[in-house]
Amino acid sequence: MMYKKCAKQFNYFYHDNESYKQYNQVSGSDALIKGQLFHNGADDFFDVIKKQENWTLEFFKSAVKSKHEEVQKWLEWFAEQEWNRWIQCRVESLDPKAEFMPMAKELQITMPDVIDRTGHVDRIDKVIGKKELQIVEYKTGKSYNMDKTWAATSMNAEIGFYVQILNSINQFPGYKIKEWKVINPTLETTWVNKISPISLKAVETTFNTIVESINNKGPFERTVSPLCRYCPYVEDCLFSDEIDILGEFE
Ligand code: SF4
Repeated sequence: MMYKKCAKQFNYFYHDNESYKQYNQVSGSDALIKGQLFHNGADDFFDVIKKQENWTLEFFKSAVKSKHEEVQKWLEWFAEQEWNRWIQCRVESLDPKAEFMPMAKELQITMPDVIDRTGHVDRIDKVIGKKELQIVEYKTGKSYNMDKTWAATSMNAEIGFYVQILNSINQFPGYKIKEWKVINPTLETTWVNKISPISLKAVETTFNTIVESINNKGPFERTVSPLCRYCPYVEDCLFSDEIDILGEFE
């Protein structure tokens, strides 16, 4: 959540979205491309397997394809994880294929509000044997390590935001969203967590703070840190005031 990292940057983003998109494209680099390739491969995986009746581990691995060597390794690891989940479905479910296949993939969601809330969910799975759902996020890169408190907190906020939207628009009637899972092929780890009511409340508070700040045109405080070097608004934000704030981080 950009607002929590730097309210000033959020304000620039809110009023100058096109510049920010360009910045992302320019500085996105190899990491973003690999992340996108992994997303595409994981997404295609389910389209490929649903066309075949008999599933084996070898078939699962053959269902992922990337010309990028590292991404191909990530996808093969991903196929193994999905194989383990499939085994679990077979053991625990009366209708294993129906429970294994995602309820949704690459889902764009919007909740009308004072400022519309929008989000993108990578995947939604059923929790085996229950009328419950799990939000699944694909995250590549070493920084998405949910064993680190700050990463888990940030993920709780991100997921909480999606849960509020999905509940509000009643996207999956009869189901309760109860868990989130992060799949990180870079670290070859998955994490599963319960959705915390405290996070949902915190997300609501943050959202209301943002709306209030926007409506009152501020205050959007600067959070000056070494990360300012990579901020697309650094020139306007810091140097237009002729203050060498970054100097202290040299
Ligand atoms: S330069 Fe730093 S303080 Fe200014 S908007 Fe960017 S991140 Fe925030």
